[in-house]
Order: sequence, then structure tokens, then C-alpha cells
Amino acid sequence: MGQMMAMPLLISSLIKHAARHAGETEIVSKRVEGDIHRYTWASAERRSRQLAQALARLGCEPGDRVATLAWNGYRHLEIYYGSSGSQLVCHTINPRLFPEQIAWIANDAQDRILCFDLNLLPLVEKLAPELSSVQHFIAMTDRAHMPAQTSLPGLLCYDELLDAEDAAYVWPEFDENTACSICYTSGTTGHPKGAVYSHRSTLLHTYASALPDALDCSARDVILPVVPMFHVNAWGLPYSCALIGCKLVLPGPHLDGKSLYELFESEKVSFSAGVPTVWLGLLNYVKANALKFSTFKRTVIGGSACPPAMMKTLQDDYGVEVIHAWGMTELSPIGTLAKLTTRQLELPKDKQQRLLEKQGKVVYGIDMAIADDQGRALPWDGVAFGNLLVRGQWVINQYYGQTTSPLVTLDGEPGWFPTGDVATIDPDGFMQITDRSKDVIKSGGEWISSIELENVAMAHPDVAEAAVIACVHPKWDERPLLVVIKKAGTELTREGLLAFFDGRIPKWQVPDDVVFVNEIPHTATGKIQKLALRQQFKDYRLPGV
Ligand code: ADP
Repeated sequence: MGQMMAMPLLISSLIKHAARHAGETEIVSKRVEGDIHRYTWASAERRSRQLAQALARLGCEPGDRVATLAWNGYRHLEIYYGSSGSQLVCHTINPRLFPEQIAWIANDAQDRILCFDLNLLPLVEKLAPELSSVQHFIAMTDRAHMPAQTSLPGLLCYDELLDAEDAAYVWPEFDENTACSICYTSGTTGHPKGAVYSHRSTLLHTYASALPDALDCSARDVILPVVPMFHVNAWGLPYSCALIGCKLVLPGPHLDGKSLYELFESEKVSFSAGVPTVWLGLLNYVKANALKFSTFKRTVIGGSACPPAMMKTLQDDYGVEVIHAWGMTELSPIGTLAKLTTRQLELPKDKQQRLLEKQGKVVYGIDMAIADDQGRALPWDGVAFGNLLVRGQWVINQYYGQTTSPLVTLDGEPGWFPTGDVATIDPDGFMQITDRSKDVIKSGGEWISSIELENVAMAHPDVAEAAVIACVHPKWDERPLLVVIKKAGTELTREGLLAFFDGRIPKWQVPDDVVFVNEIPHTATGKIQKLALRQQFKDYRLPGV
């Protein structure tokens, strides 16, 4: 046996490290109360311990779930560390979900405590009668901002709870396989499902995500996660920022272009992360006001496919490197990222660009494969596409509360997680998502990638947003319908847009029709809601049908 110290990989060790080695480094938060709050990693660690103490005083016991309905802010960060660090389970809930879904999730997780941002009080008041397991409601604010009146029974004040504690608390040591947090998938089909992360899986994900060929984060960065802390733990950034000890900027609930731009500039943000839709808003704002970024250098974009046109604009017009990444709740979430090797950097620019547009290579710790419907492995030739399977140290092996295993076999070997995505993998290991399996358009036995068609449409200068869905067709089963929001003040026509596809994709894949709309529905995590769109256009008659 090896003779090394068996120090468990615990989340508390991250914030202890940050407090000791980056104790004076700032955490800046835009508060829901309206102002900007500044403090340091040392203060965050102290307050996290005060919170751990306060939660214990409220009767929390190891394994109890502490839920949050909150935006990106320092109190939310303290709940991440104060709950997980004291052997409780942090359960972030997306406030943009339907109230019935929130109640369902909170009851499924049997949340004992619910902490919420002040502007979500009306939502929590509405939900409270449905939340059978919640024993304490905590408003994440100070005494001065506490609501004068509320229907919530015994509402507690977050800052007051912390101020009553002396911070003599010492982080406990326990098994690294203990649960630290739970996140629910958005449940586009059926009920949401819980992924329960462990301290060990989270720490390994944290190490891997900070590497140069992953997010490439360092103590020299100023990191602003636009991705919400309720969307798969802000892709792990609250942990990786502690590991590297960098300045962290938390934007609160205002994610519009103006608010973000001003914060990027005033706090000298160098690195960010978010889904494509948030960059649409930010880019529109900087373009309309002829602005430039002075410190913003890199961003990771994932959650849904980053349109190549957006990547090009960020890179060419604003000097912002885009790291295209793929992941999912069940993977904590990082799976792959598109970063080039020395050899690939010698390729012609257009070839490099095409690689960067893919979802990329796995980080060490994740293993992937593509398989046909019978579970047979498909070649990595960049052409064959199939069901994307993964396994690894931060991939779930079970959903919370379920007894049947979600895992499948690959060439007879058990233990692979089916992602529900369809992908190709090229000989260099660059994976490209063709579609979610339920979004792919099945036309006369051939598959058409809705993402590829959307990427073409998004490259048209007059298109603000595009979504492609399958429409029923008597001859071909399904044909693509393009749903588009025009940019304001443009005169785009159906014919003009369809002509734009000529030569860019095979003729038989060109959408059968275009519908111009004012709005495209998005999920609670900012992705295009294909299910709702298909519903909206279920009786749509394509031309010639
Ligand atoms: P949900 O959106 O259902 O809450 P996730 O955030 O876990 O859940 O979404 C994971 C899914 O998002 C993936 O399975 C994939 O379909 C999609 N996705 C994530 N990143 C990308 C990407 N870069 N390109 C295309 N699809 C992506």
C-alpha cells in the first residue's frame, strides 16, 4: 500500500485555502438590496463558519438539505461553504422554474431550511404552504432590510443569525464520499431528477476545471460567473475561484447587457462564463453603444451550442477568446472543452476555427464514447454520429431517490451514462454535438442537426435569434422549420434567409419554411425551449403539404 496521508477531499478545504493564501483578495457582489458589497476570502470563510454554527443551532444534522432560491452573491457563496462544509447538503433551486416545479423539487429533496434573496419573498410566500419539509425560512439580508410584514412563519434574518455566532466553529473532517450538494435537471420531459454530488467528486471536478486546457483560471484573473449559482453550481466556479484564490465578482439578479458591461469594466473582469443567450444581450448593448471591453479576455460558453457567428464576433470584434464547453447537470457539469494543441495551432485559421466551434475534448477524469442504438461503439472519424456516453469521477451513477440504474453498456461493458445527446467524435478526440436526441430532425430516414441549421441562420446579419424544430411531413416524416427573430429595423424575408443556406449546407437539409416571431421561449436556464416550440407549431402546415 502507498504510504501517503489520507486527507479527505473536502469542500471546506477550498475555502480554508482561499482564506489563508488569498485572504485579502476581494469578493465583490451586486446585492439585491441595490448596492455593491465588498469583502475578502478571509471574511467569507469566517462568515461561512458562523453560518455552519447557526445552522447547527437551528437543529440541522449531517445530511440535512439546505435549499437556496438566490442569485449570484456573497451570501449564496457562504451557504455553499457553510452547509457543505458542515456535512449538510446544499440544494440550489432555480427561481425561474414554475412555482409548482420548485415545490416539487423542494419536497423531493426534503429540504429542511430554505434561504432566499429578498426580491424572491413573494415567490417564497406563495410556495410556503406547499413546502412540507421546510422548518426554517431565512431571508438573505440584514435586519434593516427585513420585510415589515410577511406570511412566512418565524422568518429568520440571515445576517442576524450569523452575527449571533462567534466563529469558534472548526470545520469537521468526514468521509470524502459524503454528499455535499444536490442539483436537479430541468426536467424537460417528466419530473426533474436530482444529481447528488460528493465532496470527492466536486474537488476532483474543481482541480480539473481550473487546468490550462480547461478554463485556464489563475490568481491573476478576475472572474465573473454570469452562469447562475443555481445552474449546476455556476459550473463549479465558486469552488475553482477558491482553489486558485482569485478575485470573484458576483452580479446579482441583473444580467442585462448594461448592468453586466458596467460591472465588467468597473471591476476589471478578465474571465466569465455563461450560456449563449446572455452574450446576445451583452453584445447587443456594446454594439449599440460602440463600446469596447478593456480587461475582458476570455469566456467559457456552454449549456447550449455557441453559434459560430457569436464566437467570431466576440473574438474578432472584441478580442475575447471563446472557450466552447459541453456539460450537463449529471456531470457536475464539465465534460469537454475546445482548446487547441500545438499541432492544431499550425493548421490554417479556418480549420482551427472549425475545431474551436466543436464542443471539444474531454478533460482528464471523463471518458466518452459514441454508440449506436444497440450499444455498439462507433468510430471516431468525425462523421459517424451516435448516442454520446460518458463515465468518470464526477458523473452520477444514480439519480436521487431512484432505484433503477440509468447506466447502459458499451460493447457489453456496463457503467456508461447515456447523455441523451447525439454527437460525432473526430480522430483527434474533438466531440461535436449534433443535437439532443429528442431535437434531431428525422427526415426520410436521414438525420438533420437542428444546431447546424441554427448556426447557419445565426450567421445571417439580420437574424437576432433562430431555432429549428421538426415539423410533421406526410412524405418525409419530419422536415425542418426555421423560427426566427429579426434584428430590429431589418427587412429580412423568407426567401432571402433561405437563399442564405445555399452552399452552406446540403440542399436537402435546407429548412422547408421560415416563421418570423417576436419571441422564442427559453427554459429556466436560458436554453431554447424546443418542446414548447414544437407544441406551438404542432399544427403548422409546411408549404406544399
Ligand atoms: P437542463 O438544461 O436540462 O437543466 P443541463 O444544463 O444539465 O440541463 O443541460 C445539459 C444539456 O445541455 C446537454 O445534455 C446538452 O444537450 C446541452 N448542452 C450543454 N452544453 C452544450 C454545448 N456546448 N453545445 C450543445 N449542447 C450543449
